[in-house]
Amino acid sequence: MNDLIKALRAFAGERDWERYHSPKNLAMALSVEAAEIVEKFQWLSQDQSRALDAGKLAELEEEIGDVMIYLTMLADKYGLDPLVAARKKMEINRAKYPAEQVRGKSDKYTEYE
Ligand SMILES: [Mg+2]
Repeated sequence: MNDLIKALRAFAGERDWERYHSPKNLAMALSVEAAEIVEKFQWLSQDQSRALDAGKLAELEEEIGDVMIYLTMLADKYGLDPLVAARKKMEINRAKYPAEQVRGKSDKYTEYE
């Protein structure tokens, strides 16, 4: 994670782009990139979404990279580590959704085409 943070800082620094990287702008860019992931799946069936061809998979990988970049840059503005944040949130989710109580159940998930 630290290598990525350093590389992102260097990339922005070499281009004098830090001035554009306010937390607000990074959050907005993150949201746009997340929407670009959604766009890759727009109108696909459940089965189609599970079987992307090589071209679509490469496109998805690029968008996942974009999301990771902006997420990391946003977290870096506050000295946060996204991996640490994810682990902390998993602990919260583990307590909130004990496996023995929720296994196989979800009121928010419906399989449909
Ligand atoms: Mg993108």
